[in-house]
Amino acid sequence: MAWEALNDLYREVILDHYKNPRHHEKIEPHDVEQEGFNPLCGDQLTLQLKINSGKIENVGCWGKGCSISQASASILTECIYGKALEEVLSEASFFKEVMQGKSKIEEKDVGDLEALSGVQKFPVRIKCALLAWTTLEEALRFYEKTHVSSLK
Ligand code: ZN
Repeated sequence: MAWEALNDLYREVILDHYKNPRHHEKIEPHDVEQEGFNPLCGDQLTLQLKINSGKIENVGCWGKGCSISQASASILTECIYGKALEEVLSEASFFKEVMQGKSKIEEKDVGDLEALSGVQKFPVRIKCALLAWTTLEEALRFYEKTHVSSLK
């Protein structure tokens, strides 16, 4: 991808998350484990969630693939840690809308996630940026099916 087209700050944030991924560990116990795969690029992720009282109590995520996919996973873990499931799901759909050009990242304060908004300029890499978020949505759908009572 043409890194030059991303501004320096965005590039720095992405590379920092790629080199020093947050919550990059297996967590025990966990309630859900979900694998994600992006065949277009070969990106892989495993996401584990510990959920308590409708909140993400702990998260672990690791995988391999391009810098965008792995940085996005690291940023995701920071975004969702300690948050209510509803909030996390709305963040995931907001980020998808940003990637589809339907919303602007400036509309919300999303921390380091803002750095990934630049990827929108590179359609072939959007799936890389979204992999962690679609994996999260699948994980929460599975959780909802198996633990309906803990969701409102
Ligand atoms: Zn990728």
